[in-house]
Amino acid sequence: MVNWNSLHEEMEQLKREGRYRPVQSWTSASSTWMETNGRKLLQMSSNNYLGFADHPALRQAAIEAIQTYGVGSGSVRTITGTLAIHEQLEFELARFKGTEAALTFQSGFTTNQGVLSTILGADDVVISDELNHASIIDGIRLTKAHRKIYTHKNMDQLEQALRESALYKKRVVVTDGVFSMDGDIAPLQEIVELAERYDAFVYVDDAHASGVLGRNGKGSVDHFGLNGRVHMQIGTLSKAVGVVGGYVACENILKETLIHKARPFLFSTSQPPMVAAACLAAIRLLEQSDELIQRLWSNADYFRKGVQALGLDTGASETPIVPVIIGSPEKTMIFSDMLLQEGIFAQGITYPTVAMDKGRVRMIVTANHTREELDFVIQSLEKVGRKTALI
Ligand code: PMP
Repeated sequence: MVNWNSLHEEMEQLKREGRYRPVQSWTSASSTWMETNGRKLLQMSSNNYLGFADHPALRQAAIEAIQTYGVGSGSVRTITGTLAIHEQLEFELARFKGTEAALTFQSGFTTNQGVLSTILGADDVVISDELNHASIIDGIRLTKAHRKIYTHKNMDQLEQALRESALYKKRVVVTDGVFSMDGDIAPLQEIVELAERYDAFVYVDDAHASGVLGRNGKGSVDHFGLNGRVHMQIGTLSKAVGVVGGYVACENILKETLIHKARPFLFSTSQPPMVAAACLAAIRLLEQSDELIQRLWSNADYFRKGVQALGLDTGASETPIVPVIIGSPEKTMIFSDMLLQEGIFAQGITYPTVAMDKGRVRMIVTANHTREELDFVIQSLEKVGRKTALI
């Protein structure tokens, strides 16, 4: 008789190693205070960088789209699933990113899967930073391309890999713009220069950089002044944009090819219209003003300095992602639980997402956090840091 004993054993093993994570269920959503089990917690783990997830302009746009279109698109993009609101969103995303075209997908995850699996074939080589996001790793695994992984941000290794890749048909260098677990920025200037020297394409996943870095949040390419020199800019619509979905900003020919070949585009129903409408409202807000982004950066710098002044290790953080490195999975989860007792939700991130001894609570600062709230988190970190002998 079949049974799930192997799964039971696996879950027990996770519990023994302190890596078992119950999923928190929230009864309200916001970039700062959120409620769970009748208790309000200060949110330090949401990707809702600019507070767009509950912004009145996005709510209104979604309501209007529901009234116009209903709540579902009825099929995949290539049948009835391309509504005018999808095309408008793509048009404005391309303008925002300064590219010829943009194509949306249901999530950032499926964007990476769809684009990488379309552009990479058996005669190609993909050269990828070791800390790139899981969806990039999975996207690459779907292909028959040759793979080379370079140590995080190691430009000598990248050059070596490029030098050894002359005989492949296509060379594609893939990097996150901002790395999601450490909050550091990719050396995009160097990457682009090397790629140009060795005739390679550049692919940047700007999930954590769109709405955060660059003029009006246009992303890491704009931040480094590299417009026109990066061939594929991936963005997610789930973080600073505050909704859900993903896109690639690219040239027309790639968009055309993806429409014909990218499997998540061809075989999975499109974003609901109210989702596309809310995303469009967010892009328009970004175009109008960078006030929230300035507040985001001022909060992030203030918070990071405060945490560092306690003697805590924030790793390589240089963006609103501020990890506090703790160590083993057990210690990390204890630290995260103790912050919870103080009224702060800061998710513990442990192996295999990060190395076994590099467990961390990953804090994400948003534009909406007040200085008082950030001070409260810093004071709580000090209290918990002392109790756990980390400081
Ligand atoms: N790329 C990176 C770098 C990410 O951090 C994430 C979010 N977890 C994704 C892609 C996937 O985006 P989404 O959540 O929109 O699927």
